[in-house]
Amino acid sequence: MVKILDGKKLSGEIAVELTSKIAKLKIKPVLAIIQIGNNPESNSYIGRKKAYGEKIGAKVHHFALPNSISNNSLIKFIKELNERKDIHGIIVQLPIPKTLNKYEIMEAIDYKKDVDGLNSKNTNILYESPFENLDPKKIPKGLVPATAKGIVTLLKKNNIALVGKKVLVVGRSVLVGKPTALLLTAENATVTIAHKHTINLPKLAKENDIIISAAGKAGLIGKNCLRKGQVIIDVGTNAVAGPKTLEEVTKYKMVGDVDFEAAKKIVSAISPVPGGVGPMTVTSLFENLFEAYNLQK
Ligand code: NAD
Repeated sequence: MVKILDGKKLSGEIAVELTSKIAKLKIKPVLAIIQIGNNPESNSYIGRKKAYGEKIGAKVHHFALPNSISNNSLIKFIKELNERKDIHGIIVQLPIPKTLNKYEIMEAIDYKKDVDGLNSKNTNILYESPFENLDPKKIPKGLVPATAKGIVTLLKKNNIALVGKKVLVVGRSVLVGKPTALLLTAENATVTIAHKHTINLPKLAKENDIIISAAGKAGLIGKNCLRKGQVIIDVGTNAVAGPKTLEEVTKYKMVGDVDFEAAKKIVSAISPVPGGVGPMTVTSLFENLFEAYNLQK
């Protein structure tokens, strides 16, 4: 029988651990979320982060800035937050307007407060790991992008072996695909990255023990990509048309990249959408906040 990798349940269990760790702290960890403009999807993600933060006893400050803000003013604002002792983590909610320079904005965040793990100092620490030719004691501790961290936690907490396993990561984004591939390489898996120019994805997918799909394409991983015994992590979140209501209005539902119904008859374990990687991303963000808090001590 297929095992469902339940991110919602695991997220709740980690929330209990985080709550008890935070309860012991005199000064509570504080996360600053900077939002530029008023993207409805961002509003929903920020709402989930606030709710999780409140649940575990952390504090979340939401700074809503206008679309018209200049690059320099935003960088100045971030630098002020870097200096504040009462702020332990900083996120600039993505996407941001194209008028802003995303790279410069990420670089402005103090790497010890960079709970999204997108500052080059943090990406470099991940790039170096597992520090094969370096003394790990000489490497500063870094923060890893939350979705990548959540995926690895979901696999490990479900006792899925990674050492020597063949893993295919579908997607090469800075936010998900690349950090996930690096983190799994550091866990001693043998990782291949596929992207939109990959030829014969189904053949490649079948050759791997674990498939992590972060393409944002509903139905990309169908039964022609799957074989018995595989573990599937579905990162994709795609809004597709669902059944029409009585009023003939099309309802939308959220699906992943994987044909879940087909996959669950073939593979040995799979994460659902929703309820898989999504809740793990929020959880990992707050694990990062706790780590950031300790880095600043
Ligand atoms: P992105 O658009 O930046 O990257 C998509 C990647 O998929 C690209 O590297 C592209 O080359 C690859 N790709 C596209 N079509 C492909 C194809 N046909 N075959 C192989 N590769 C293909 O997106 P992203 O930010 O990395 O997010 C990916 C998906 O994950 C989206 O659906 C996003 O909503 C979702 N996501 C979910 C969470 C979560 O917490 N559940 C977090 C972040 C992103």
